Amino acid sequence: MRVAFCTSEAFPFAKSGGLADVCGALPRALGKHDIEVVLFLPKYGSIDRQFIDNQVAEHLYVSKISNHFSVYLIEHKEYFDRPQLYGDENGDYADNFDRFHHFCKEVFESLKHLNLPIDILHCHDWQTGLIPLYLKEKYKYDTFFKETKAVLTIHNLAFQGVFSSENFSKIDIQNKKTALGALSFFDQINLLKSGIIYSDEINTVSPQYAREIQTEKFGCGLQNVMSTREKKVRGILNGLDEDVWDPKTDQYLTAQYSSEDYLIGKGKNKAFLQEKSGLALKKNVPLFGFVGRLTHQKGVDLLLNLIKNLTPNEIQIVVQGMGSQNYHEALQNFSKSMSRSFAYVDRYDESMAHNIYAASDIFLMPSEFEPCGLTQMISMKYGTLPLVYKTGGLVNTVKGYDEYKNEATGFMFNEYDIEAFIKEVKVARDVYQEPEVFHQLLTNAFAEDFSWDKSAKEYSDLYQCLLSD
Ligand code: ADP
Repeated sequence: MRVAFCTSEAFPFAKSGGLADVCGALPRALGKHDIEVVLFLPKYGSIDRQFIDNQVAEHLYVSKISNHFSVYLIEHKEYFDRPQLYGDENGDYADNFDRFHHFCKEVFESLKHLNLPIDILHCHDWQTGLIPLYLKEKYKYDTFFKETKAVLTIHNLAFQGVFSSENFSKIDIQNKKTALGALSFFDQINLLKSGIIYSDEINTVSPQYAREIQTEKFGCGLQNVMSTREKKVRGILNGLDEDVWDPKTDQYLTAQYSSEDYLIGKGKNKAFLQEKSGLALKKNVPLFGFVGRLTHQKGVDLLLNLIKNLTPNEIQIVVQGMGSQNYHEALQNFSKSMSRSFAYVDRYDESMAHNIYAASDIFLMPSEFEPCGLTQMISMKYGTLPLVYKTGGLVNTVKGYDEYKNEATGFMFNEYDIEAFIKEVKVARDVYQEPEVFHQLLTNAFAEDFSWDKSAKEYSDLYQCLLSD
């Protein structure tokens, strides 16, 4: 079976969040099920030249990762040779519709040019939402794509690719009437909606989020569209790329460690991070870490409140992230006024992120909603207990202390407000001071299996099921 992954991010080529981790790792896990993946990605200016092997056509480059996995990079200098993937300090790039529309069309042209017949077009998020539409409306009578099916994975329903309806005229299909209905969204057009309607199968990245997005609270205006396809929406949990995320082999760390010798290893990493980020060198004060996009979704408002109320000798906090300017300024101010107990890393930096997962004792993830979340899984793998809100994929991956006691793998709060969050931080702080209980929780967290094996099998079954329809 051959599957084409169509995505705007894949690690290590281009990354802004978890989508890249998933598209970098899942194809390799599918290889074990004898599935060949050819992945299509825009050839962004930021991609390291060393990752690119050959030019195979005028605007097409390839990087061969293994016998089962190749990455094709679609070139368009004007659209993709820019410092960022989706926008800059002024907001989203104004021509994002044109950029990703071009990408979608080029996937079809490239496959034909390469003479690579495809069983499944596996699309990821709104950037590729026009691919199922083109498959069904433009290529349905093309023998090359006659047997091809489309799958859409929704990594975050909050990002939908909504554009002015003037762009509709650019879509290159005959039967525009049906398509207009599929794309229309409050006088605009919505590319994710197109993907949802035209795909043969839809899934999202955790079972809990698959249920949530069919409700008004989490449906982001698409809950009715989701509900009409209820039977088709599966939840398949993301996994971790264990070649990238493993404290035993992680080259970014000062000290590598395993679940057996974590006390020494994590201690060294904590001292290194405290020193590097200007925090007071304190062994027995719990260090709380955060790595993520600085958005309301990720709970940054709750974080700011926590930092404001920080009692310096009780806990330390380190936050790494980029995002809204107002969050950035607030965090910068805190890091100046309380530099011995709060540190802020205001950049995208893989190495620093790995160090924060390894050095922290507790990982803060107060997301208001969370399709799956990788950072809570990474932190458990690194022996850092996650503290999360009871939502989405966090429910499927973390066992909270209040409910599970000695079988817990982290901490969970049930009401989305500052009081409940701070109360749970205090619970974590107190449990940290009880070494035996804390050790038990860490042992539980280390024992969790977040490999891709199980989920890759679920994707393989989904493809098989679709092809036998
Ligand atoms: P998202 O909603 O952003 O996809 P996930 O938890 O699924 O959230 O994945 C986030 C990924 O991005 C993780 O691999 C995390 O380590 C990484 N990440 C986020 N912000 C940064 C940053 N500033 N520097 C380095 N890595 C980051």
